[in-house]
Amino acid sequence: MYFHAMRVMEDLPLHKGLRKRLIDTLKARGITSEAVLEAINKVPRHFFFDTALAHIAYEDRAFPIAARQTISMPYTVALQTQLLDIRKGEKILEIGTGSVYQASVLAELGARVFTIERQKELYDHQQKSYPLKSVYKNIQFFFGDGFLGLPIYAPFHKIIITAAAPFVPPKLVQQLLPGGRMVLPIEKDGVQFILVIDKAADGSLTETWVEECSFVPMLGGTSKP
Ligand code: SAH
Repeated sequence: MYFHAMRVMEDLPLHKGLRKRLIDTLKARGITSEAVLEAINKVPRHFFFDTALAHIAYEDRAFPIAARQTISMPYTVALQTQLLDIRKGEKILEIGTGSVYQASVLAELGARVFTIERQKELYDHQQKSYPLKSVYKNIQFFFGDGFLGLPIYAPFHKIIITAAAPFVPPKLVQQLLPGGRMVLPIEKDGVQFILVIDKAADGSLTETWVEECSFVPMLGGTSKP
């Protein structure tokens, strides 16, 4: 058992090689931010998978995790992170902690990450077994409804939603700093799009539609098993 656990946590040359190939795929798909590519090259994505599935960790695809949720595909993580344009020390609110992979990439970029998960089962799992706890101390975990944000910790420089929202959550817009940016998937008429919202110094908002995407739905309230 102990041996098995140790094996899971190893980052071998094999994994580093697979990550390099993933970086090439992400470049080919149009990711240009060197900082983002470097961060993805550093975070051992296979730590978020069972040992037997380590090879799948570096394919550019989403994958099921606990509680009928998914770890987003690397391209989507790279795209949203690139759009967020993270600077070191910025306060970032993430809605939808899931596997903690996206939060880890943000933390690798030097952000102070506040991440909310609405499913108790996933939140509890993160508390117990987040594999990079000792590496990324700049992530704080919260159990709650992301539609409400975290008023006590607001305002945030940037906000990222990693589940498809039915509308732009007004409370999150309120919790965004002037000059800040929110990146979220929005679902309209059965089609999901990545939307970027920029909040100007005077509080006015500009919306930019980026491209189609595929996320699990953002749901209201919390869920306890
Ligand atoms: N960022 C995650 C993606 C997980 S999938 C990762 O890197 O793995 C989306 C997650 O959003 C799911 O865990 C789901 O439970 C959560 N979610 C959906 N609606 C939410 C809400 N209103 N508040 C917080 N989390 C929510």
